Amino acid sequence: TERRLLEIRLMSYGDRQLLLIARDITRIRQLEVMRKDFVANVSHELKTPLTVLQGYLEMMGSMAEPDSMQAKPIEMMQQQTRRMQSMVEQLLALSRIEDAIDIDLEQKVNMAQMMEILKDEAQALSQGQYQIDWYCEPGLHSHGNELQLRSACSNLIANAIRYTEPGGQISVRWESIGGGARFSVKDNGIGIAAEHIARLTERFYRVDSARSRQTGGSGLGLAIVKHALGHHHSELNIVSEPNKGSTFSFIIPTHLVAHSSVA
Ligand code: ADP
Repeated sequence: TERRLLEIRLMSYGDRQLLLIARDITRIRQLEVMRKDFVANVSHELKTPLTVLQGYLEMMGSMAEPDSMQAKPIEMMQQQTRRMQSMVEQLLALSRIEDAIDIDLEQKVNMAQMMEILKDEAQALSQGQYQIDWYCEPGLHSHGNELQLRSACSNLIANAIRYTEPGGQISVRWESIGGGARFSVKDNGIGIAAEHIARLTERFYRVDSARSRQTGGSGLGLAIVKHALGHHHSELNIVSEPNKGSTFSFIIPTHLVAHSSVA
């Protein structure tokens, strides 16, 4: 016989009654798995054609005279192919992170080392147009999955840059707090209205899709962050005010941070 998956809820009903609701969610789960597989397969299949396009466009770009009629369209096509490539990368990253069950939280993560890599990435993105202030508490480390944690941090930093006008200020910090380790990115950018905040980690949810498209976002960054943090028993905290700026932060809980000092 086929195994069924039930979701069971127990609710108190009135003063002295309990209500038990059982729902068969086998089919829902199957569909979820199918959706995830589909997305992962399609993204994977798109990689090769995009690489080929990118290659030919680069070749055409280097052959076209700088101010010729072809130069501009070729540049636009290159830009859009790069955008597609980055979306495909994000889709793959999300499906990898969603699927990661039983991830190894035993790796030792050195925050200072991670910060150096984040700095290099941010440099490439910000092109010196932002004042970024970095702080990492000396000796801070934790247990967890280095790649996933770094990808969470890196998405938050990319967003701070993306949603702050050039010349803006960004502060990135790793510090200990009550035995846990707190990562935060604060910007003085465009901010987010209260009604959007709860939905930001949904796939493809964007406050202003035109702006996000323009700045090269995929709408998947915060969904990736949410899943990566979930694996580390942590969640994203967002404090923001329109036109003032935002602070995105999370805390790696004590049990992951504390026993790293023993190791
Ligand atoms: P995107 O690729 O569109 O940036 P994300 O999932 O990373 O997708 O973010 C979702 C939305 O959250 C963004 O489209 C933007 O509207 C909002 N957002 C994220 N970070 C910030 C920030 N630092 N300041 C203002 N808005 C932000």
